[in-house]
Amino acid sequence: MKSKSNGSKIFFWGGVGTVTGSNFILEVSAAGENSADSKIGRLMIDCGLFQGGGEAYAKNKEAFPYDPTQIQTLIVTHGHMDHIGRIPKLVHDGFAGKIISTPETKEIAGVMFDDALKIMTETAKQHGDAPMYARADVDKALLNWETHPYHEVFEPFANSLVNVPGNFGITARLLDAGHILGSAMVELTRKVAAGESGGASDRKIIFTGDTGNTPASIVRDTEPLSGANYVVIDSTYGDREHEPWEEGTAKLKEVVKKTIEKKGVLLIPAFSLERTHIILYELNNMFEKHELENIPVYLDTPLANRLMPLYERSTALFNDKTQKIIASGDDIFQFPKLQMIKSPIESAKIERTANPKIIIAGSGMSSGGRIPHHEAIFLPDTNATLLLTGFQSVGTLGRQLEEGAKEVTIAGERISVKAHIESIKSFSAHRDVDGLLNLLETAVDSAGKPTAEKVFVIHGELKVALFFTQRVRDYLGLKAEAPERGKGYEVDF
Ligand SMILES: [Zn+2]
Repeated sequence: MKSKSNGSKIFFWGGVGTVTGSNFILEVSAAGENSADSKIGRLMIDCGLFQGGGEAYAKNKEAFPYDPTQIQTLIVTHGHMDHIGRIPKLVHDGFAGKIISTPETKEIAGVMFDDALKIMTETAKQHGDAPMYARADVDKALLNWETHPYHEVFEPFANSLVNVPGNFGITARLLDAGHILGSAMVELTRKVAAGESGGASDRKIIFTGDTGNTPASIVRDTEPLSGANYVVIDSTYGDREHEPWEEGTAKLKEVVKKTIEKKGVLLIPAFSLERTHIILYELNNMFEKHELENIPVYLDTPLANRLMPLYERSTALFNDKTQKIIASGDDIFQFPKLQMIKSPIESAKIERTANPKIIIAGSGMSSGGRIPHHEAIFLPDTNATLLLTGFQSVGTLGRQLEEGAKEVTIAGERISVKAHIESIKSFSAHRDVDGLLNLLETAVDSAGKPTAEKVFVIHGELKVALFFTQRVRDYLGLKAEAPERGKGYEVDF
């Protein structure tokens, strides 16, 4: 029997009881030397922003509840802000270690940080605060950021810029999470010294990050959790079942068709990272198959436009279905009447172009970006349709419209809502409850025997995380827990 007191612990500092602010630390000690702090290795997984609601700003501003200078390495699962948003602040507050991710995640982070720096500086000014970090911190983060493609084995503690005694016998790999381009699950393996565990095999922890809906639209499916002894799994939609993907495609087609018939305007508030690219991909398929008349599509989101070259050149990471379409000679994100809008002046001109037309603009919840401007113009139009494509947080303009508000305030003006409000719920980038349970069932050894000893359920609203935790116990018979913030959980690793 292996001793359970080797001192390894996981601390959950964000992404517990909430879907944002992901931030975890795995503490490992050199065998038998866990008393001296200098012998402890600290590996962070994700350092995300808290989002939504008034208290998010205060939570993001708070000092980190640990010493950033004592963390050797940060591994990043993917480029969404709730997983990367506080990295520049971590650097600003003294973190000097290595940052590791897939090459795509690093590139996405670079684009997202540019945008975030502007928003954060502006918000801090409104609160009368000093900015949390500066351009130099973003630059430093990107300078100390190394990349590994999926499946490449690396030593997360090796060559750390922070003093560390060896590599603790730990190796790591990034596995495809199937969530967005470049998204990864972090697989950590610790070599068990001979005799230490009576001949037991290596120990393995997998942090899933966010795992993708299945089948995913353009990226590959989530890889199996083979041999994992511990799984730290997201539970964003751990209490619901998604509509099938095709229902979303059918709805999109119907809404575009009606827009053409009415010679109207279709507004799509866009989530810049990936969701926008998926909508373009779906529209391209419909135009390509001549299911719809080709109408002008204005892509009025600078962030999505900036990410487009990365998507265009990362097709090798897409799933077989998408690769086949590309191989047939189709550029999946481009069609004849697609126009990328760059400047605010060009954006303002869209209003006067001929109908029918589709305007895709950020932000996805109409809480900023260029979409509110278009909404102010077109919401009073009975021939216009607003199509929501994702979750709308309480307190956002998108949520008010989703709930059927007949009048809204945009930039201080009362706007009457006569446009049709439609919504697609199935273009989700997250697994639903069955998808998550199926994923956990892949934690088996080569003989098919289950290996998971414990499942930590994170990244869900508290109610959802608790629901899913119970499901894991009831349906899979596994030990499962929704961890508390700040508490260290011992792991035999
Ligand atoms: Zn995500």
